[in-house]
Amino acid sequence: MSNPLTPSQINELKILVQRQRQALLGLMQAQQAEVLQHEPSDSEMEHSARVAATGINEADESLANLHELEIASYERALQRLGSGDYGVCSDCGGTIGYARLKAWPTALRCVKCQEVVERRPARV
Ligand SMILES: [Zn+2]
Repeated sequence: MSNPLTPSQINELKILVQRQRQALLGLMQAQQAEVLQHEPSDSEMEHSARVAATGINEADESLANLHELEIASYERALQRLGSGDYGVCSDCGGTIGYARLKAWPTALRCVKCQEVVERRPARV
């Protein structure tokens, strides 16, 4: 099994993934602390009333979910870094490429396969 990345590149990307994951966790904790400590203002009371009426708290919910998904993708990247699968396209088994991984450390696919995925019609 040949990994296209050199050990020093893997090390560098590992640090990158850990740092970004840590930053994201810090961001989430800060947001949670803010929610807990915050006295509701008038506009927030209106917001709460709207949430109660519609059952939709679009801003908070989607942001939290997004962060959780992102953190999960960083955890998976760290697992792949540990197992040696990192940098290998999950679809074609080809090389993802160091430059692409530096820009997007959680990338699962090479540019070609990612394009195919993104051209697929949206799931229902
Ligand atoms: Zn591929």
